[in-house]
Amino acid sequence: MMSDAVKLSTVERLIASRRPFPPAIREQFERDSRERHERRLVAVIWPSIIVYNVLLGVDYFLVPDAWQVSAAIHFVIVTPLAIGIAVLLPRLQSRTSREILAALVPSAMSLQVLFIFAATTSPFADQYQYLVVLNTVFLSTSLRPQFWIVLTVSAIVFALHFAAVQFLSDLRWQEAAMASLVLMMVTYVTAIGSLSAQRRERRSYLFRLRESLRHAEADLSSRHDKLTGFLNRSGLDKALKDLWKGPVSQVAAIMIDIDHFKSYNDHYGHLAGDSCLKEMATIIAAETRQPKDIVARFGGEEFLVLLPNTDLREGSRIAERMRRALTDAAMLHEGEGACGFISASFGVGSAATKTMSARELISAADAALYHVKKNGRNGVWPAVDRPVLSVVGPGAGETERRSA
Ligand code: GH3
Ligand code: MG
Ligand code: MG
Repeated sequence: MMSDAVKLSTVERLIASRRPFPPAIREQFERDSRERHERRLVAVIWPSIIVYNVLLGVDYFLVPDAWQVSAAIHFVIVTPLAIGIAVLLPRLQSRTSREILAALVPSAMSLQVLFIFAATTSPFADQYQYLVVLNTVFLSTSLRPQFWIVLTVSAIVFALHFAAVQFLSDLRWQEAAMASLVLMMVTYVTAIGSLSAQRRERRSYLFRLRESLRHAEADLSSRHDKLTGFLNRSGLDKALKDLWKGPVSQVAAIMIDIDHFKSYNDHYGHLAGDSCLKEMATIIAAETRQPKDIVARFGGEEFLVLLPNTDLREGSRIAERMRRALTDAAMLHEGEGACGFISASFGVGSAATKTMSARELISAADAALYHVKKNGRNGVWPAVDRPVLSVVGPGAGETERRSA
């Protein structure tokens, strides 16, 4: 699941700057790549156990005097350890701990080789020690843990190998130096290869992340109205489907229509009309609890608010709160037909989701809105608490007219 903390702009900046991942992206990367990472490590360790034991044949031919000891270390220590690690890996939460554990496999294999190398008196011991090189390649190119793990493990193995060939063997100094040089060069080349493979992996992750964030953003904007930020009709359709499929049993709907908005546009211009719609949206948003409540721009200057688990009385109360907030905002409207300030009409309906469809509920709220429009506007229907429709009279402040 995508974390809200990861922003498209951050990902784009990272792609351009090539900086290390900040914590939020690192966490997201670890979450998204966890399954693949686990599978890759485990898939690499199992065959390595087989190859490692097949290579016991090398011990038999190159170090016959220590062959049995080697077999014992193979079967009693290293193989069970590697199997245990392969089994344990998927249970570890953190990528770093999985990688450290996985790196123990080639480390144990190298230690076994160095131990036998130190123990044998075989004349082919100088050839035998090159098995350490295989483990180093295995670590950097197959397991490919983070660079610092590659470096740490390789440095320890190199130091032990250096001590073994220099001080614990009968190799001439030229052979010992050559053995160390080969190991050092292989470590260097494979570690650099591993570093660039990791960078490629992280970079391609960023590209994939950018694509999915762009997709999510496009999806979001295709479901939202640009002017108000509320759901548009297609976003509303989806929200209604989800709401009716979900556990909510009762929904209240408030249909809102700004009064005399055409004349507002005519008087102040379309751009001022747009600002007024935005202001109206802010007032509605302040009176709702999104994302629990669903707020949509239903049409030009019409808004629909859906309140889950709300009955008609509570819905009407909330609508009345919105109406008062709009009145309190005292936005000037000196256009034709208006009473001096912006007002709106509110039609409320409520339905049990089992017995009434979303469309029927919206029709009911629409019918209630029509009732308000017919009865002087700037009111809520059905009215609660006080059975009135309130009307702001021209220049007379707020007056109230008893509803029939
Ligand atoms: P009533 O009180 O009966 O609702 O009258 P009204 O003038 O509000 O209703 P009418 O449906 O005649 O006019 C709605 C107006 O809303 C017409 C249209 O120009 C305006 N409108 C719709 N969408 C937008 C918009 O996005 N921006 C602006 N500025 N105006 C819009
Ligand atoms: Mg209208
Ligand atoms: Mg209107």
